[in-house]
Amino acid sequence: MVSTILIGMLCAHLLCFSAMFFLISKRLHGNKMGMDFFAMGNLLLGLAYALQFAEGGPAWSLMSVGNHTLTLAAPVAYWLGAMRFFGRSVPLWRPLLAMAGIYTVAQVLVEWSFGPVARYAMLSGMSALLFLVMAVTVIYGVLTFARDLYGEMIFFAVLISGICLLNAVKFVNLLGMGLDALRMGGSFQLVFYVYMSFLATVLPPSIIWLVLRQLTDELRDVAARDPLTKLLNRRGLTEALQRYFRARGAVSAYLVMADVDHFKRINDRYGHQAGDQVLCRVADVLRTHVREGDLTVRTGGEEFVVVCMNTEVRGVTQLAERLRTAIENAATVVEGVDHPLHCTITLGISHAFTGADALVNALKEADAALYDGKSAGRNQVKVAGAALCSIAA
Ligand code: GH3
Ligand code: MG
Ligand code: MG
Repeated sequence: MVSTILIGMLCAHLLCFSAMFFLISKRLHGNKMGMDFFAMGNLLLGLAYALQFAEGGPAWSLMSVGNHTLTLAAPVAYWLGAMRFFGRSVPLWRPLLAMAGIYTVAQVLVEWSFGPVARYAMLSGMSALLFLVMAVTVIYGVLTFARDLYGEMIFFAVLISGICLLNAVKFVNLLGMGLDALRMGGSFQLVFYVYMSFLATVLPPSIIWLVLRQLTDELRDVAARDPLTKLLNRRGLTEALQRYFRARGAVSAYLVMADVDHFKRINDRYGHQAGDQVLCRVADVLRTHVREGDLTVRTGGEEFVVVCMNTEVRGVTQLAERLRTAIENAATVVEGVDHPLHCTITLGISHAFTGADALVNALKEADAALYDGKSAGRNQVKVAGAALCSIAA
């Protein structure tokens, strides 16, 4: 009786969350983060339990064959959904239908050759194997592609290991006790369905949490980056500086401001789109020439900022000169223009600063130095307050 109620509740849970996953996937345009696949997994498992509910006990019937195939197809859909969540573009229907077809044929062959116990044991054995593969994949994920989700992945690995273990025990019980092992009143079956209900209650909110976490991380990233060049924007710069100085204390940083010379002419001569491509090229050159840990920012228009961490004025001046030369030598190939486009930049360097609150002042100093460089003929480096540290082109 208790097991029957549990199966009914389990079925309702699975189908409700299937609908919720489906609705969430509809709201996510483009990358659905596997939510449509999870919806399918829940639907398949919910239908499997609905068939089991209708069937009552073990039997050789179309309903039972359907129940076993759906029960095994569900973890496959979850597994594919997890791959989607981590950005792998795996298909759903082909592997699912192939697996369902093969398993249905296998059921018929096993039932005819070895009888019903073997067919039920096959389901438990295959489920245990599938969940084992999932648990191993999750642990592999913790060590490689999902390191930032360490806590969540360990939690999933523990939950999946539980269901893997219960299926393995069910497999052994079936081999030892035959179909008696499936008696609904038996204590093992009770434990099995209590655990399944627990999973059906705990896993869906955990999956929703993962999606929410991913979405908020993406939103934060979008808010902190310039859409054209993907460099940090002013807000991203402020946040990154706050994080940096909080973690490292009062080490000195320098701010280098760079402005493309006569950029308006590029726009006027070759069009705004060509101008955009030049800006992207400048951004790439800056990004690839700074040290790891330094910040590269587009503060607006054709104006960029590089913040060099933990260095001294000589090092920054050398870096600024390297940037100037690299931009001067870089060429942008633009479709419809018969020659590569070139540009130069003028750079201004602030005094050293040791905290995020000094950003506004550092920007002002670098801007004033930059203005000096523009007045002195452009395509050069100027240091704030210094009469000269300029390297003319
Ligand atoms: P200077 O050497 O004095 O810096 O001259 P400049 O022409 O580079 O400076 P000015 O401020 O006169 O012109 C900057 C131009 O940059 C004007 C604006 O239309 C263009 N611009 C700003 N943002 C973008 C953008 O996102 N894409 C493109 N293509 N152009 C932009
Ligand atoms: Mg300019
Ligand atoms: Mg400008």
